[in-house]
Amino acid sequence: MDKEKKAIERIKIASEMSLHHYEKPLVCAYSGGKDSDVLLELFKRSGIPFEVHNSHTTADAPQTVRHIREVFRKLKLEGIKCEIEIPTYKGEPTSMWKLIPEKLMPPTRLVRYCCSVLKETGCANRYIATGVRWDESTARMQREEFEKIANKKKDKEKFTITMLMNDNDKRRRMNELCMQQNKMVVNPIIDWTHRDVWEYISSEKIETCELYQCGYDRVGCIGCPMAGKKREREFEDFPQYKKLYIHAFERMLKERERRGKENTWKTGEDVFAWWIGDENVPGQMHIKDFIADE
Ligand code: SF4
Repeated sequence: MDKEKKAIERIKIASEMSLHHYEKPLVCAYSGGKDSDVLLELFKRSGIPFEVHNSHTTADAPQTVRHIREVFRKLKLEGIKCEIEIPTYKGEPTSMWKLIPEKLMPPTRLVRYCCSVLKETGCANRYIATGVRWDESTARMQREEFEKIANKKKDKEKFTITMLMNDNDKRRRMNELCMQQNKMVVNPIIDWTHRDVWEYISSEKIETCELYQCGYDRVGCIGCPMAGKKREREFEDFPQYKKLYIHAFERMLKERERRGKENTWKTGEDVFAWWIGDENVPGQMHIKDFIADE
């Protein structure tokens, strides 16, 4: 498969850069989803030294958490370094359920503070590989094969590998310094379609999370605002998570009251109904009424 060769080539290039600039192996970011499993298989086939990292989101389904632990158990037996990172916020261990009251609003499609805290803070100053693909969403169409994620938002920029290769010595040294201070990202399967991923999983007999066999086409956090209407089924299958969100929304309303913020909602259930898109909830607050607390 040409796409397999191309993906492995990207992994090898990133590995060389990681070893040269950071003096550490490339990190395979692993979420427990099908794209991660494909990425991990490509890493194994590339022959490079690597580590595997998972950000524990605290809202993953139990099946996903079990799959991650099982994959890591096998990797460790092969001598591959694996880490499951427990999220922190303001220096303290946190979770989706703690963050909601602290941020004073539910996570939404537009304000995904949970991703910034629970998924994107790990692997600072390292070169990482992700399973991001162009055909996942319009936003992901803007992503590139090789990227730099600046630590400071104002410095956010992207650049391609070709720029680095064509740079003169002075510019290259500046880029090297810049790389060491930021997280570098390679997206080896960026040009793979949904179909490519499933064909590869099937032809190479890659084990995936059991939720895919139950009709799920994504296995991220239960209740992720990016999952839209699919959340209804998730909450039917995982009623405990619905309770956890409702309790978190109740604590959020109390915290809003304590901090003197307007509260149109009366209960956590009201917030939940609004959050999953029930148009018939009385006294709805518009999203602009919620402002995430920094
Ligand atoms: S719920 Fe969605 S947006 Fe939030 S951390 Fe999970 S994947 Fe990211």
